[in-house]
Amino acid sequence: MLNRSRSTIAQAARVFATLSLGVAVAVTSSVSAFAQNVPVIRDAEIEALVRDYARPIFKAAGLANDGIDIVLVNDQSFNAFVTGRRLFINTGALTTAETPNEIIGVIAHEAGHIAGGHQQKLRDQLERAKTMAVIATLLGAGAIVAGATTNSRGLASAGMGVATGGGEMAQRSILAYQRTEEMTADRSAITYLNATGQSGMGMLKTFHRFQTALSLSGAQVDPYRISHPMPQERIANLEVLVKQSPNVDKVDPPALQQRHDMMRMKIAVYMDGQAAASRLMRKMPGSLAAQYGDAQSTYLFGNIATALAKTNALIKAQPKNAYFQELRGDILMKANKPKEAADAYAKAVSLDPARSGLLPVSLGQALMAVGTPESLKKAVVQINNGLGRDKENSAGYRYLAQAYGELGDIPGAELATAEGHFYSGNYKDAKIFAMRAQQQMKRGEPRWLRAQDIINYAPSTKIK
Ligand SMILES: [Zn+2]
Repeated sequence: MLNRSRSTIAQAARVFATLSLGVAVAVTSSVSAFAQNVPVIRDAEIEALVRDYARPIFKAAGLANDGIDIVLVNDQSFNAFVTGRRLFINTGALTTAETPNEIIGVIAHEAGHIAGGHQQKLRDQLERAKTMAVIATLLGAGAIVAGATTNSRGLASAGMGVATGGGEMAQRSILAYQRTEEMTADRSAITYLNATGQSGMGMLKTFHRFQTALSLSGAQVDPYRISHPMPQERIANLEVLVKQSPNVDKVDPPALQQRHDMMRMKIAVYMDGQAAASRLMRKMPGSLAAQYGDAQSTYLFGNIATALAKTNALIKAQPKNAYFQELRGDILMKANKPKEAADAYAKAVSLDPARSGLLPVSLGQALMAVGTPESLKKAVVQINNGLGRDKENSAGYRYLAQAYGELGDIPGAELATAEGHFYSGNYKDAKIFAMRAQQQMKRGEPRWLRAQDIINYAPSTKIK
């Protein structure tokens, strides 16, 4: 059984671990050192919040009616872009923004680029690429995905494989907009913000910061600033538009601001470490967000019993908060009480308004740790449930393979491993495991057919 001592925010760390049967991943390094190597963060709470920011804007822009996938990129620089169904956003953007409105404004601007058809061809290619392939190219970390091909045009080939090398170049050329496109996207953004009764001040604040950014952030150059030119004239025009809006003085609803504060707190605790978290807590004295940060920090770096007491107090303050229950589950797992952890995760699953696929997988892991044949069967149901909601959760397939293995269902384990490779974009290994699975299955049964789909898959065709 994996040592599951961290919340789902750290699940990403396991994404690139080898998806082979029976190989447990030792999680021993410190959280922040660990986190630095993790390109994508998976977290039910943060993904739900960013989706809540994006949904009304996308609706106003007439985009993405069938849901948006949020991809949280672990990078301290500022970046955000939308390929189509997926919204990529850096943790650095989320922690820099003091209000939801700042992020919502940037999303509105991105929606403006999509509605304007800017960079549509590249965006289509990105949309066809697996999430991890996009990330690998973005971060110039092609080596993390097997079977990569080198291409100096960077993301242009992302639909077919992963571009390695020249990562910086790819980053600079990715979705680089023309100045006229910027003006159009700004105007559209204001239209969407007006339609949803929100202010453009957050967007203005963010773009204004980029204009003076070099001195502010030291050596760090934000990719967003490179791809979106911000000449003085553009900011001046935007300022006029923002101040003309009847919503200019609107602020975010307090409940949304609180969720935003809790998100910033969580990223600080898990990704930036104890000192960064303490600094942020001091900026929000007496707040629920500070309490949340304190409980999480105690869980990661302090006493487990104290962390549990602090989390119980949070649950008392917000009994319907799914993510407080999730934290309680994480703590109980660390305390080696999987049965109680499973109860907490089950509550989290039932309370989660966003129906995240991550929470059922956590519940499944707790049930696996309980270890009885009955709980293993329940674990399989829960993990499949979670993967049904969220197919790209590579870690989930590994737990599923492990659970099948422990139940003696070897072809099931092989197929789960094949799926894990498949959704990571590692088609070669996916096929190997799918063929191994088929050898022990009845020809034509549903699982055999799924294995056949993986074997037949050609990366240039799109399957869902
Ligand atoms: Zn732009």
